[in-house]
Amino acid sequence: MNLLLIRLIIFAVLFFAGLKLYRMYREWKLDRDDPQQGDDQGNRMVRCSWCQVHLPEEDALRERGDWFCSSDHRDKYLAERKEEQKEEKQEENKQGENKQEKDD
Ligand SMILES: [Zn+2]
Repeated sequence: MNLLLIRLIIFAVLFFAGLKLYRMYREWKLDRDDPQQGDDQGNRMVRCSWCQVHLPEEDALRERGDWFCSSDHRDKYLAERKEEQKEEKQEENKQGENKQEKDD
């Protein structure tokens, strides 16, 4: 009877020791992984809106919420955007003219 009790106690001690070691290992592993994740956030990759190339955030240029790999691509993108806005305005003007014609 005593032998069985001792075996049970030994088994319980081993079980909890193993559990504690496992938890310590997990915490140690998390501590080791965390700094690497921090590095990833520091070197976040962004995409150039003009050529779709990925580059580190610190090397990229930011303009109105868009990222660019170079000032050249930023200028091209913004120039094209302005043209698109102009075209939209021209279409709006045309539609307005059509309405006026109908009203006449
Ligand atoms: Zn680019």
